[in-house]
Amino acid sequence: MAIATINPATGETVKSFEPMSESEVQERIRVADAQWKQFRTVGFEQRAIWMRTAADLLEADIDQVAELMTMEMGKTLTSARGEASKCVKGLRFYADNAEAMLADEALPAGAGVVGASRAYTRYESLGVVLAVMPWNYPFWQVLRFAAPALMSGNVGLLKHASNVPQCALYIQNLFERSGFPEGCFQSLLISSAQVEGVLRDPRVAAATITGSEWAGRSVASICGDEIKPSVLELGGNDPFIVMPSADLESAVATAVTARTQNNGQSCIAAKRFLVHDAVYDQFTARFVEAMSALTVGDPLDEGTDVGPLATADGRDEVTELVDDAIGKGASILCGGRSLDLDGWYFPPTVIADISPDMRVNDEEVFGPVAMLHRIADIDDAIAVANSTPFGLGSSAWTNSPAEQDRFITEIAAGQVFINAMTTSFPELPFGGTKRSGYGRELSYHGLREFCNAKTVWVK
Ligand code: NAP
Repeated sequence: MAIATINPATGETVKSFEPMSESEVQERIRVADAQWKQFRTVGFEQRAIWMRTAADLLEADIDQVAELMTMEMGKTLTSARGEASKCVKGLRFYADNAEAMLADEALPAGAGVVGASRAYTRYESLGVVLAVMPWNYPFWQVLRFAAPALMSGNVGLLKHASNVPQCALYIQNLFERSGFPEGCFQSLLISSAQVEGVLRDPRVAAATITGSEWAGRSVASICGDEIKPSVLELGGNDPFIVMPSADLESAVATAVTARTQNNGQSCIAAKRFLVHDAVYDQFTARFVEAMSALTVGDPLDEGTDVGPLATADGRDEVTELVDDAIGKGASILCGGRSLDLDGWYFPPTVIADISPDMRVNDEEVFGPVAMLHRIADIDDAIAVANSTPFGLGSSAWTNSPAEQDRFITEIAAGQVFINAMTTSFPELPFGGTKRSGYGRELSYHGLREFCNAKTVWVK
C-alpha cells in the first residue's frame, strides 16, 4: 500500500510520501535507543509537564487536526473534533495519574515475606516500543499508547497506517513541540513489509498493534519468535442485545450511533443486533427507519451523519460481505449497495435473515452494516452473542437485574456495557478476548503493559 494521503470523499491523491530507507530506519532506532537510556531517568514531574504541554498544544489545534483526520480517512468533522478532544483528556489523565499508578507497590497490609526487611514491586520501563496503528481513529489509537508509554519512561516508534501519514507526522511533531527530548517519539514512514525488520532489531523491546486479525497474527508471531512482549488490539463482531424490558427508544437511538459511528469503521461498533422476539418487530421498524434517515455525504459538512469509507479496498470488502449474505438468502431492509459517487460511500444498511453459513457471522464488517437476529430468550441471546471468534465489546439492553448479571458474567468479551454502547475511557481498561487480542490499554493496566514488574527484596 502506497504511503499517501488520498481523500476518501473524492478519491483524489493529495500527497505521497517515499517509504523510509533501511538506513533511515536504523538511524531512528539508534536515536530512540540512545534517548531511552536518558529518558528512563527523567522524573515523573518533568514527564508530566511535557505531557500536559502536549495536551494544551493539541487542544489549541483541535480544528486543524480534525480537518487533517477528515481529509485522510473520511470521518465526519464533528467526530474528528470529538476524537481530538478525547485525546486531550487521555494525555491529561496520564500526566495526572501515572506517578501514583507506577509507585512502588508494597505488600498488602499485614503480609510479610520471610527473611526480608522490605519487599515490594517496582515498575520500570522496558525501552523502545514499536506501535503499529490503524487509520480508523488515527489520533486516539496512537495517543492511548503514547501517553502511558512515555509516562512510564518508554520511548515510542510509530508505524502508522499508510493512508494517514500526515496524522503520523503531526503526532511526532506534537511531542517534539511539547518538550519531549528528540527520539522519545518518532514516526517511521514504512510499509507493513518493513515491520518485521524493526521487530527483530535487538534494540526494540516490545510491540503493540491495533489492527486486523491478520496483521496482529504476523506481529505476534514475530514477537513470539523474538520473545518480546506484545499487546494486540484486533477486530470485533460485537453483539448488541435488546431484551423486552429495555427502554426501546433509547436502545434504537443508541443502536444507530453504535453501528454508524466513524462511518461504521470502529472495532467496538455494534455489528450484530440480537433482538428478543417480543420486541423484534417494533425494534426493527424503528431501527430501519432511523438508519434510512441518516444523511450520507461530504464529511466536512456539519449536517453529514455518515461519510465515505476510508479506502476503496474497504468499500469493496464491505460490498463483498453484503453480496455474500444476499446470495445466501439474507434480506436487505435498507441500503445494501455502494453509492455511485466519486468517493467510497456505502450507505447505512440493515440485513435480516442471517444464517450461519454467511461470512458476516465470522468476519468483521468494517462499514455501516447491521445484522439483525431474532432471539428466543436470554439463553439464546448469550449463545448467539458468544458464537463469534471475536470477543471485544458487547452491549446488552435490559432493566432486569437478573438478566444484567447473566450478561455481565456470561458474555465472553473484554467489555460488557449494560444499557449503553461500548466505548473507552482513560480510567478503565480496554482490550479483547479470543481473536480480538490480548493485553490491555488504558487505566493502570495500559500503563503497566510495557513495564518490568521488578521484585525488590531487601534482607
Ligand atoms: P490493518 O490492515 O491490519 O492495518 C493496521 C496496521 O497494521 C497498519 O499500520 C498496517 O500498515 C499494519 N499492517 C498490516 N499488515 C501488517 C503485517 N502483516 N505486518 C505488520 N503490520 C501490518 O487494519 P486496518 O484496516 O488499518 O484497521 C482496521 C482493523 O483494525 C479492524 O479489524 C478493526 O477492528 C481493528 N481495530 C481494532 C481496535 C482495537 O482496539 N481492538 C481499534 C481499532 C481498529 P499498512 O497501512 O501499511 O498496511
